[in-house]
Amino acid sequence: MASYYYVDKNSKRDGQHHVHTKGCQHLPTLAQRQFLGTFYHSRHAVKVARYYYPQVGSCEDCCQVQLGKV
Ligand SMILES: [Zn+2]
Repeated sequence: MASYYYVDKNSKRDGQHHVHTKGCQHLPTLAQRQFLGTFYHSRHAVKVARYYYPQVGSCEDCCQVQLGKV
């Protein structure tokens, strides 16, 4: 099932912008997030997020994919 994905406009302390799905408890507010699109897998969303930010990570709560496996 496809989900809506967003990337946080603010980087975390490690410099990464985290990707979240719609409904995640860590999802930033509307002004603080960039809509990426609908995807079947978080790794696709991470790929798109990299067009916006060089350092992208996936939220450990809603995206159970580690960057090394992308
Ligand atoms: Zn999340």
